[in-house]
Amino acid sequence: MTADGIPEVMQRTSLDPEDWDSFRSLAHRALDDMIDYLRTVRDRPVWQSPSSASRTALSSPLPRRGSELSEVYETFKEHILPYPTGNIHPRFWGWVMGGGTLAGLLADLLASAMNCHVSGYDQSATLVEKQVISWLAEMLELPSHASGLLVSGGTVANFLGVTVARNTRTGADIRSNGVQPKLHGQLTVYGSTATHGWAGRCCDLLGLGERAFRRVSVDKRHRVQINEMRELIRSDRERGYKPFCIVGNAGTVATGATDDLNALADLAQSENLWFHIDGAFGALAKLSPKYCFIVAGLERADSVAFDLHKWGYMQYETGVVLVRNAQSHKDAFSFAPSYLETFRGGIAVEPTEFASRGIQLSRGFRALRVWMNLATYGSDRIGRAIEQNIDDAQYLRERIEQEGALQLLGPAEMNVVCFRYWRAELTDFQLDELNREILVRLQESGLAVPSNARVSGCFALRVAHTNHRTRRDDFDVVLKAVLAIGNELAESTGQKEGTAWA
Ligand SMILES: *Cc1c(COP(=O)(O)O)cnc(C)c1O
Repeated sequence: MTADGIPEVMQRTSLDPEDWDSFRSLAHRALDDMIDYLRTVRDRPVWQSPSSASRTALSSPLPRRGSELSEVYETFKEHILPYPTGNIHPRFWGWVMGGGTLAGLLADLLASAMNCHVSGYDQSATLVEKQVISWLAEMLELPSHASGLLVSGGTVANFLGVTVARNTRTGADIRSNGVQPKLHGQLTVYGSTATHGWAGRCCDLLGLGERAFRRVSVDKRHRVQINEMRELIRSDRERGYKPFCIVGNAGTVATGATDDLNALADLAQSENLWFHIDGAFGALAKLSPKYCFIVAGLERADSVAFDLHKWGYMQYETGVVLVRNAQSHKDAFSFAPSYLETFRGGIAVEPTEFASRGIQLSRGFRALRVWMNLATYGSDRIGRAIEQNIDDAQYLRERIEQEGALQLLGPAEMNVVCFRYWRAELTDFQLDELNREILVRLQESGLAVPSNARVSGCFALRVAHTNHRTRRDDFDVVLKAVLAIGNELAESTGQKEGTAWA
């Protein structure tokens, strides 16, 4: 029974609060807390492993009966909030992650309130997504009539781009008949050995098999060898394969290298292949007048995939695919079942406009995040932050080159710097073990989070700089720590006479 004597089962259920004012004060407090949390992020460890109390708290049984939102919020503050990935922190440079922005924080709150379903429909969210797609095309110097879609991230964006390529360039009706190698030959895609792991998964999911991604070796600067690619395409054709797509890299994941995109565009043109670019982070170097030369030729792509949650500094999940030919894009995914009929008026004007550019039907309003970020900061200011990241990465590279006990690995031409602690008397195997230990100690100390890569066979500490909160002296602090930990470990390695420590 409830207080007014009505049996609980007979009351109507709503998930809205009875007391809106107490929700209001909690919500204001939460927003204040989050603003303080971000403002003071530098004072906390970059990363820490969740406590055992928090692990226990987060493995509780299903709450059949709920609690007060204010209590749930306290649990969040105690057990969830203190243990983020750490990419919001100024000394996080692991993998390739963005730190988010305050405009994005607000945008996510506002979009959540509107909770729009953005498969299409006559609504502001549709206009906003179209608006940002044309802004993004302009930023990358693609034609303003290019099509595009916001997606969860680079993996999905790349997948969509290569799917359009498959459906456009194989001369077969794959949407109806599926992949039929006996009829049209084994379909193949070409890219460098430095291409991100999405490529193999994509070929797998497209029904081509992982081996359909044909890997071409790279030069000293980790750029794809164009002649080798041309030769492989030719010999594959002789074998009866059906090449349909070249993948260019604008910023490889391990070392930040960028292929010669103009040369790849020429090759794609002369071989009549689709030219797709994985510009997950590197594409946005276009916004820096000083460094845009690195990605020259990007504007010639048939499709480009990139992330705004990396070098666009926006919150997760914000990936983008742009496709030069809007009709090809639509033909690859068009979807119009009778229950989603298009009307000339009412709300259901093109209800599948965006659903026909990808595989999601129900879609959220991530476009608001992009719109608010671009409208607030402007593409010039984002470009300056990107330029600053590259300048600072180059500063880090120079500092490493000046230290006898540090060794630069890989080209470090853009915003990714790979290096290791180095001593002449240690073997490569010992150096691998030692640098692995440096990495773990650095992360566990809470001082900084770089990640790792294998560069020319060596284990490397890897700084991928897409962080708008970093100051230049943050790199000094980290190099000092690497040297201190390295010296200590090298000494103990020496004492153990060449045996690796446990
Ligand atoms: C991060 C990354 C991807 C994958 O993007 P997600 O957003 O993580 O799905 C693809 N390629 C490169 C070069 C990347 O850095």
